[in-house]
Amino acid sequence: MTPTIRLGVTGLSRAGKTVFITALVRNLLAGGRLPFFPVMAEGRFRRAYLEPQPDDAVPRFPYEDHLAKLAADPPLWPAGTTRISQLRVTIEYDSHKFFRSLAGKVGAAGPSRLNVDIVDYPGEWIVDLALLNQDFATWSNRAIVDARAPDRRTAAREFLGLVEAPAKLAGDVEQVAITGAKLFTRHLAAARAAAPALSALTPGRFLMPGDLDGSPLLTFFPLPETNSNDQLRALLTRRYESYKSQVVRPFFRDHFARLDRQIVLMDALAALNRGPHGVKDLADAMALVLEPFRAGARTFALNLFRPRIDRIVFAATKADHLNHQSHDRLEKLMRVLANRAILKASDAGANVEVLAFAAIRSTREAEMQAGKDKLPCIVGVPMAGEHVGDVTFDGKTETALFPGDLPSDPSSLLITKAEGGIAADDVRAVTFRPPRLILQTGGGQSPSPPHIRLDRALDFLLGDRLR
Ligand code: GDP
Repeated sequence: MTPTIRLGVTGLSRAGKTVFITALVRNLLAGGRLPFFPVMAEGRFRRAYLEPQPDDAVPRFPYEDHLAKLAADPPLWPAGTTRISQLRVTIEYDSHKFFRSLAGKVGAAGPSRLNVDIVDYPGEWIVDLALLNQDFATWSNRAIVDARAPDRRTAAREFLGLVEAPAKLAGDVEQVAITGAKLFTRHLAAARAAAPALSALTPGRFLMPGDLDGSPLLTFFPLPETNSNDQLRALLTRRYESYKSQVVRPFFRDHFARLDRQIVLMDALAALNRGPHGVKDLADAMALVLEPFRAGARTFALNLFRPRIDRIVFAATKADHLNHQSHDRLEKLMRVLANRAILKASDAGANVEVLAFAAIRSTREAEMQAGKDKLPCIVGVPMAGEHVGDVTFDGKTETALFPGDLPSDPSSLLITKAEGGIAADDVRAVTFRPPRLILQTGGGQSPSPPHIRLDRALDFLLGDRLR
């Protein structure tokens, strides 16, 4: 029996899940440069290969399609995660025990194997765990209060215009449910774009429906307490309960609770671009993600879904958007933001690591002369349509950019510029074209895309199981 480890990969939309998994698998299959991954550094890695998907009901992570995108001319970033998917990679290696047996100290042992089941799922779905504890009335009341909050006024206008007008809710209940769900979804999307306070964005599938787009399971919306349309309330309550029993519970029971390890990816630079507010959101998101792992003051039912995760990595992706001088600072910032999450993790009995990395490095470094000074900058091909100030890029031209420096004291990112902090535009995040991947060289080699510190993430997630 080959031991198996289930590695969850999550994060909000565009955090970098797809790119991370594609790069990780390529590096393992092709024996990439991973000097901080001890099994490789110590020469104990033999090979890695893909095995058939063990869970028939879960779509396979389309690794080959994603790789083809990176190998296209010009290369493209693969399409991001929209639903759960899974891929099994088996690693064949020589254990320390095997090495010792060669030295004649222990009985003979052959090469060892480890199956790594990588489970990719949208971070948007995690918030739904809270629904399992709430009935329709409780969830509804809270969602209506959130929608009426002053900072949601614009996002919620259309939706509140419907639910606060009893006459508009009086028609055919199915049609009202369809319209209401559409407006509520639009409201959640607008609220997220304005200020992604994740915890208030339930149901998670409304923002990231996966295979359920258009399904009756997603055809409900919160109804104000004061509404007396009993027929409508009965339908919405039934749909809400079905969503919990047919969507939320199976996800947590069949996938989430079976994870052994978890990596949570965050686009920290995008958060920085939104200013102190965005940075605080990121800290909230980290703490929220850990909620399902906690024991203690939870009901027995929720404990059933608690995974026995012993290691969690919070990682800021896309570190190649900064000069290396800022990589340690990015990590320091993540550490400060993860503080609350780390406390929760120890409650859950898990070890937490915080990292900054780039799964695929799309820039190189250079120095730019600015008057007498030399500025550390990054060089790459910004994607077409990206812009800095009033310069818009064409997607073909290599450009040197000074991406901005992160401050040595991360707390200055939590306050506004007027208060002495740094402002959003002090750090510029531009999307660069990925480097083109050569699938196989003339000499029969399979190169891996360049990365920054990907091996450190791998070591924390898998290293102890490959000794
Ligand atoms: P997902 O929605 O979490 O699956 O996000 P993706 O993996 O699709 O990443 C979203 C986008 O972020 C990609 O299209 C890239 O533009 C960018 N990205 C992700 N990872 C990296 C990385 O390691 N380096 C760089 N430069 N960009 C990245």
